[in-house]
Amino acid sequence: MESSTLVLTEDGSLELRSVTVPEPAADELILDIELSGVCGSDVHMWQHEMDLDYPVVPGHEFVGLIEKLGTAGITDSARQPLSNGDAVTVVPGISCGECWYCENVPTRPLTCNDRDVHGFRSLDEPPSLHGGMSEYFMLQDRAWFYRFPETLPTALGALVEPLSVATHAVERALPPGLPHVREGLGLGQSVVVQGAGPIGLLTAAAATAVGAGQVIAVDLRTDRLAMAEAFGATDLVDLTEYEGDEFIHAIQELTPGGVGPDVVIEAVGRPAAFGQALRIPRNGGTVVEVGHYFSSGTVDVDPSDLIHRQLDIYGSLAYPPNQFATAISMLERTVDRFPYEDLLNYQVGLDRATEAFEAQANGESYRATIHP
Ligand SMILES: [Zn+2]
Ligand SMILES: [Zn+2]
Repeated sequence: MESSTLVLTEDGSLELRSVTVPEPAADELILDIELSGVCGSDVHMWQHEMDLDYPVVPGHEFVGLIEKLGTAGITDSARQPLSNGDAVTVVPGISCGECWYCENVPTRPLTCNDRDVHGFRSLDEPPSLHGGMSEYFMLQDRAWFYRFPETLPTALGALVEPLSVATHAVERALPPGLPHVREGLGLGQSVVVQGAGPIGLLTAAAATAVGAGQVIAVDLRTDRLAMAEAFGATDLVDLTEYEGDEFIHAIQELTPGGVGPDVVIEAVGRPAAFGQALRIPRNGGTVVEVGHYFSSGTVDVDPSDLIHRQLDIYGSLAYPPNQFATAISMLERTVDRFPYEDLLNYQVGLDRATEAFEAQANGESYRATIHP
């Protein structure tokens, strides 16, 4: 059996290659990929902003149907039994299990300094099929993966990864606070989400799902703000209506007491937005930075301001692997509440992958998807 598999070459072009699909070993399985999202990080990779072993097989936000099980009796990472045809989502990051961090900080698997990540690995590394933009994907023993419930539209399986990023960012604002004295995020409290791209929208939904009383979405596109409202935002702040940083005052006016929100989550990914994030919350509030997976520069910070305003600042990188279970559970509970399928608004086949990368790069799509 051959797989038509997309690769990103050293010179930045997207090409289809034919890869022989190996027979799975006892603890392996082959997935027939349904769809794979084009993430901002795929765009960065495409625009040469990552140092990787090219050619890379892209795609880390995907869902596939089981084509072949190595042996009967394999279960997913939640010990659910599997059979041929089941939909499966795969956690892209794989920690090494052997370094100092894996031994001593197991609650933060992203601290591992020797991780493999599906969607960022070389075609030349056997068995080559480790990205979602491919007809077939080979799942090997060290990867975490979850059966995707048949009660949900299969396409939403491609949102489990970004929803894991979003739910983790919200959870960063939860511990180790005492919500009843407004340490951390509690029921009924106020959250600002900067940026209404896919991560910002899913973050607004996650904040709503954990019981935030007010979710204020900030963006400069009216279509994205309207979408934020559909994803749970109670208040919208359109940046184009304000000069410079005046919008910060406008946000604060929206919050109880006019002091600013309890929590700000930065999902824009521009240094200026992080600088603003530090100025938006009330004193003693929380800032979560999730937008800057890639460095796009620096911003001036006045350390004295952080002290005097007693801010809690958290960096949120991806998620631990069992965050996939959190995201799937949230999808099950909220599939009728938030218009998740509307995020998948640019769908193409493998042969038109470049168009999907372009649509994602220029903001035309929330999440362009490639359907092998
Ligand atoms: Zn991603
Ligand atoms: Zn490690």
